[in-house]
Amino acid sequence: MRIPEKPRYAYACQKSAEFLLDSGSNTLPLNILHAAKKYKWALTPYSQLAAEHHVTIGEVCGAFQSYDGYTVFHSGNYCIAYNDSRQFICNKKRIYFTLLHEFGHIYLHHFTDFDQTMLNRNGLSGREYQVLEEEANCFARNVAAPPTLIQHLQDYDLTRLSELFNLSFTAAKTRLYTLHRDAKYFLPEQNLNLSDRFDQFLNGMECEQCGRYFVSPGSNFCVFCGSKRIRHSRQIKGLPAGIRLNADKQAVKCVKCGNAQINPSDPHCRFCGTALYNDCAPTVCDVNGAPLLQLPCSKGAHLDGYMRYCPYCGNETTFLQEHLLTT
Ligand SMILES: [Zn+2]
Ligand SMILES: [Zn+2]
Ligand SMILES: [Zn+2]
Ligand SMILES: [Zn+2]
Repeated sequence: MRIPEKPRYAYACQKSAEFLLDSGSNTLPLNILHAAKKYKWALTPYSQLAAEHHVTIGEVCGAFQSYDGYTVFHSGNYCIAYNDSRQFICNKKRIYFTLLHEFGHIYLHHFTDFDQTMLNRNGLSGREYQVLEEEANCFARNVAAPPTLIQHLQDYDLTRLSELFNLSFTAAKTRLYTLHRDAKYFLPEQNLNLSDRFDQFLNGMECEQCGRYFVSPGSNFCVFCGSKRIRHSRQIKGLPAGIRLNADKQAVKCVKCGNAQINPSDPHCRFCGTALYNDCAPTVCDVNGAPLLQLPCSKGAHLDGYMRYCPYCGNETTFLQEHLLTT
């Protein structure tokens, strides 16, 4: 195969989603060691190579013609060498991106699809080299921070992207700059799978008041105690237990009488009138206990089976008001 005239952004984006979903990870940044091990790609720091060959790290860079990293493909095995010298160690984010970039060269089959490669830089024209570099960069930024996950964030800026996705400031800038272009190359199914897989990573919250953990995008209130003192959780924890709901967030059976003959259009159990959906309910006291009637908020979405307070407005939920939640 000839090296393409232009970088294949659609290919690189779709392969990045495939790689990320295949990694089994549900949190970011990706565990690099874990991923390399899975594919049996060896990782070797420049410092080790320098020691083995009695040369300086500068000389290793010179030999590979790369300050950041280099992949060697030999008898079917891949070995990725990366610069771990002091100024690079200080910037772990740069090493992270470098390794994802090298993963890109491998996962996009740059070593096996093109006659000119072995990725020996000398065998490539400047343009060919740039095309493959651009594809590997595209792969790396989309594994590190998939557009659909960024688009799910309520608000973001360079600092937030850099922290959340382990990107250097420069890489975060490029990520933002290419966001809309890359986004359109992903398959709808990949986007769905990615947002599903990383739901807890993006939307896991913890409450400073009651200490409990829940998952809800765009929440302003704790769903257990109604407190406003909630923050994004860095850890992925087990989901709270609650009343079992189906995919449309309707109870699979009535909690009070056990009736399981339920139509999707039933808001209440037809036998005992118990609520089947957990919704934001009219609440007589606001979260500060002030006596007023607060009507359900306009979010309108059915809530999860464990939520006692609406995450959007802090109102009580129907399940709480009907005393269905015991744990
Ligand atoms: Zn490269
Ligand atoms: Zn709470
Ligand atoms: Zn019932
Ligand atoms: Zn509400």
